[in-house]
Amino acid sequence: MSNGVDRTAGPRMWICAACGNHYPAAPSPPTVCAICADERQWVPPGGQRWTTLDQLAADGHRSDVREIEPGLIGIGVEPSVGIGQRALLVTTAEGNLLWDPPGFLDAAAVRQVRDAGGLRAVSASHPHFYGAITEWSRTFDAEILLPEADASWLTHLAPALRTWRDALTVFTDVTLIECGGHFPGSSVVHWAPGAGGSGALLSGDTIFVTPGEDRVTFVWSAPNRLPLPARAVRGVVSAVRPYAFDRIYGGWWAPVLRRDAKRVVEASARRYIEVMGGAVAGD
Ligand SMILES: [Zn+2]
Ligand SMILES: [Zn+2]
Repeated sequence: MSNGVDRTAGPRMWICAACGNHYPAAPSPPTVCAICADERQWVPPGGQRWTTLDQLAADGHRSDVREIEPGLIGIGVEPSVGIGQRALLVTTAEGNLLWDPPGFLDAAAVRQVRDAGGLRAVSASHPHFYGAITEWSRTFDAEILLPEADASWLTHLAPALRTWRDALTVFTDVTLIECGGHFPGSSVVHWAPGAGGSGALLSGDTIFVTPGEDRVTFVWSAPNRLPLPARAVRGVVSAVRPYAFDRIYGGWWAPVLRRDAKRVVEASARRYIEVMGGAVAGD
């Protein structure tokens, strides 16, 4: 046991260095990362690069675990791996949900999750952030909850996979909401006790918090700067409209939309659709 995962002799699983997604153990890496070859991601100019958990640990990567607010723990990697998302662990009396795991995990992260009550389920906003989802599921015998529309992007055959559509109540106060947009199954978590009881969304890049922490935006491809069509933006906003929330945690430690998030989402979507229609200053 090292890095918190089984270390039996034999082939290692491969990790795409560009996105952090894990691929099944094999003597040599896959020829292509399907997730990075897709138009929403990118392959490094020098070609696909692969690493392993052992190599990442040898290169000095370590988990970075922080309490974000009562009941919510962030699990990142320092220095970051792949796209650089940090996971969120939502803790409840009924069990815990891990969201958007990065590609690296180590024994320290596993121990802190165990100390926080373990893991009943693991999920992600979209395939770019599946990362070590299968390792976390195996380590804690936790269900993998993915929207049916995106489940075929999972790189491992996972017996613990349960698919869902539209919305799924994971625990009493924790709901997965399918919003679409960036991916057909792009999702958010609604965490009712978040933001001091006002409600929070954990949005990955389904709803993209912008650097000033006063707006959000919507993307089809962030790295390739391709926007999301207006009809898809309307779909994202209408999916979260029934839920009460005041804060949005995106896929990274920062930025965070700390307050007034429900109004900001509606106003940002209106402005986005205006701009897509040609309404920019100077016209
Ligand atoms: Zn990749
Ligand atoms: Zn993405």
